[in-house]
Formats: sequence, structure tokens, C-alpha cells
Amino acid sequence: MSYDRTETTSRTAWRNWAGNVTARPARTVSPASVDELSAVVRRAAADGLKVKAGGTGHSFTAVAATDGVRIRPDLLTGIREIDRTGSPATVTVEAGTPLKRLNAALAREGLSLTNMGDIMEQTVAGAISTGTHGTGRESASIAAQVRALELLTADGSLLRCSAEENADVFAAARVGLGALGVITAVTFAVEPVFLLTAREEPMSFDRVTAEFDQHVAENEHFEFYWFPHTGNCSTKRNNRSAGLPAPLGRVSGWVEDEFLANGLFEVVCSVGKAVPMVIPPLARVSSRVLSARTYTDIPYKVFTSPRRVRFLEMEYALPREHVVEALREVKAMVERSPLKISFPVEIRTAPADDIPLSTASGRESAYIAVHLYRGTPHRSYFTAVERIMIAYGGRPHWGKVHTRDAAYLAGVYPRFAEFAAVRDRLDPDRLFGNDYLRRVIGD
Ligand SMILES: Cc1cc2nc3c(=O)[nH]c(=O)nc-3n(C[C@H](O)[C@H](O)[C@H](O)COP(=O)(O)OP(=O)(O)OC[C@H]3O[C@@H](n4cnc5c(N)ncnc54)[C@H](O)[C@@H]3O)c2cc1C
Repeated sequence: MSYDRTETTSRTAWRNWAGNVTARPARTVSPASVDELSAVVRRAAADGLKVKAGGTGHSFTAVAATDGVRIRPDLLTGIREIDRTGSPATVTVEAGTPLKRLNAALAREGLSLTNMGDIMEQTVAGAISTGTHGTGRESASIAAQVRALELLTADGSLLRCSAEENADVFAAARVGLGALGVITAVTFAVEPVFLLTAREEPMSFDRVTAEFDQHVAENEHFEFYWFPHTGNCSTKRNNRSAGLPAPLGRVSGWVEDEFLANGLFEVVCSVGKAVPMVIPPLARVSSRVLSARTYTDIPYKVFTSPRRVRFLEMEYALPREHVVEALREVKAMVERSPLKISFPVEIRTAPADDIPLSTASGRESAYIAVHLYRGTPHRSYFTAVERIMIAYGGRPHWGKVHTRDAAYLAGVYPRFAEFAAVRDRLDPDRLFGNDYLRRVIGD
């Protein structure tokens, strides 16, 4: 069967959200069904081209880059099935469905995912493939909420994977880095929609780091941001509420989330990029503008918010018991260096999970994420932070800037060889390979 739906052969350039990764795929295609996808994969293999399924390009690494055939997710979207008979209930969605569409559809059905990250622009397959996570005491990453998935492999088979069926593939493919095949559908555990009360509150660095374990223990979802060049932090505690909804007011929500967190922040960042000397005084002022607020809403409206200011990010997962010590080292490093950092540093947590390449695989974890405004040279800051993270056996987020290779990663992931073995079996010729996978998993 020949396949040419919306195919482009002119080597149209592809660029990720942050603009730091570009690629020139030989072909870009938008299959609209598993049969069409299967034809795309067969034809690419016959033409000697690599294949890469893309999400929405929100990874900061070249994990989604290819010079072969790029598969766009646009036409592989939608809800396939909601099953309320099981415990938990589940939803099965096409792999290219954006999280925001899933969240809205679930809310209409009175359902919700349990936990999620900071934004919901990504596709479901893209989000799980790099281990996208939010913060949680008991509830883990989005991939950890997957109950089954369907994977089109290099030999053309469509594998249905779950804890009961193709269990080894299921374990690996939940955070599969696009290395095992093309995911065509994902089944998530869902629960009746619930309310979360968010309490956002400024706190000093000294206090939040001294009380970190207590805040994590007392809250279902605790996170905080530290503002470099200051002793100020902003904390956020989300807990389930039995009360009534009390959403952010439209005006105050717009002022705080659009004007302050995006519009004004963009101005502050671009001024800081032009004149780095002003960053520390601006940070001292802007970190004090944030005031305490409390609101109660459905989960995705509490967990996620728009991120319009473009940035570059690196994030490491550390054994949780080391995170405060590591963060203090980051702070000391920034203070004694000439670096001027306009973006806050984000700290989140996750319980241990059972996914071989999840950053929280087999260990209770906390994350330190550093960001820089787009176009700001990042090497000296990220290198200095990365050195601290590595000393604690840190695991880099697969979708965020890092310099680690397979030799290092095999040492910090006890189940690395298990993933590599599944890859060798499913994709011996590396049809789904790219330069990034060669670096982080090996040839
Ligand atoms: C503004 C912003 C905020 C973010 N917030 C968070 C956060 O809070 N927490 C967090 O952990 N991360 C966060 N990230 C990172 C982001 O969630 C991940 O990089 C995620 O993988 C991006 O999903 P995507 O749909 O854009 O996929 P892409 O970046 O396009 O692709 C990622 C990987 O998924 C693979 N893939 C995509 N579709 C398929 C498929 N159908 N089959 C097999 N493989 C597939 C690709 O091949 C690639 O390997 C953020 C990124 C940005 C830019």
C-alpha cells in the first residue's frame, strides 16, 4: 500500500518548543490510523530511513529529532474508550492526544488523572515516553498511571502490553524514549474527579529547606521555587478537599498567572538578558511581589498553568534524602560565581516506582530543575549544577538538557540492562534510533 497523506518530502525543518533543537526529516507524515502508520513504518524500513514518532516537541533534548521519517501525532488523537467497570476505572486514548484534550474530556465525564506536571500541551505518548512528572507524596509520574499500551514494533506487529500481556515490554515502554516502537494507544487509570485546595505561600529559603521533610510528609503534593540571588522561595501545597470549589477569580487569576507569571516575567527576563547586572536586584523585588493565595479547583486547573515565556531547562532526580543538601550547594555555587540567573529553581518529589527508566525507578526521589531564559548561554550554569547532581547519583530527565551518556546512566539505573535487552529484541536494526538514543542507551 502506498502512503502519502499530508506527506512532505522537501526536508521541512523541524524545531522543538524551546528552539534549541532542529532537524531536517527526509519525510514528515500524518497517518490517521494504525493501518496507515503501519504502512509508513514498512515503507521507511524499505527505503532505509529511520522512523521517529513526534509529540508536540516539548522536550529540550534531541530525543524526538530525526533525519528520517517524522510521524506527526495530529491525526492520531481522541478518546477510544472509557471503562468504568474496573477498579480503577480506565480511559484509553489515541497516542497523539494532547493532555489538555484528555483532561477536558475526562472532566466532562466526571473523571480525572491522579497527578500531572506543570503544563498540559504535550501528547500522552510524548509525555510518558520521557517520564513527565509533577510532584507527589504517594502519586507518581504520568507513566506510572498507565495500565496498558499498544505498540507498533519494527517487525510490523501491534503489541498489546500490560502487566498481564507482554509484561516486560509494558514495563519498559511506559518510559520508552521512543526507542521501542510507535505507541498507538495508551490506557490510563482514572478516578472520579476530585477537588484540590492549593495553598501558595512565600517562605524563606532557610525555613523551607529546614522543614522540607515535614512539608513533604504533611502534603499530598508539595513543591517550591527558590529565586536565585535571594533567600526567598515560593511554596505550593495541594491537598484533596472535601469542601466546595473556590477557583481563582478571573481577574486575579489573570493578573497573577498571565500578567505577573508570563507577561511581566517575560519583560524582566529580556531586560535581564540584555543587562545581566540588573537580575539580582530585580529578583529581590520580583520574589517579594508574590503573595499568599488559596484556591480550590479540579486537578488539572490546580496542577497546570500556561508557560508562555520560552526557556531552556535541565532537571535531575536525586535520592530524596539528598535534595536539600544538593540545593544548598547549588545556592552556594550561584552566590560565589558571576552567574546571573533570572529563572527560579523548582523542587518537586516523587515516590519510588517500578518502571525501569523512570527517574524515580526503585527510589524515593526529589527533583531539582534549573531554567534559563531562551537565548541565554546555558553551559556554565548547567555544567556547574550538573556536577553537583552527578555527585549524588542524579538521574537526568530524559526530555531536559543534560550531558550524560549510556556508561553513566547504566550506573544510576539498576534496570538499565533490562531496558536495553527489550530494545535489542524489538528493534535490532534500530529503525527507531537517533543520535540521542545512541548517546544515552548505546548503539
Ligand atoms: C514549558 C514546558 C513545561 C514542562 N513541564 C514539565 C513538567 O512539569 N514535568 C516534566 O516531567 N516535564 C515537563 N516538561 C517536559 C515535557 O513534558 C517532556 O519533554 C515531554 O516528553 C514532551 O512531550 P511531547 O508530546 O512534546 O513529546 P516530544 O518532545 O515531541 O517527544 C518526546 C519523546 O516521546 C516520543 N514519542 C512521542 N510520541 C510517541 C509515540 N506515539 N510513540 C513512541 N514514542 C513517542 C518521541 O519520539 C520522543 O522520544 C516540560 C516542557 C516544557 C517545554
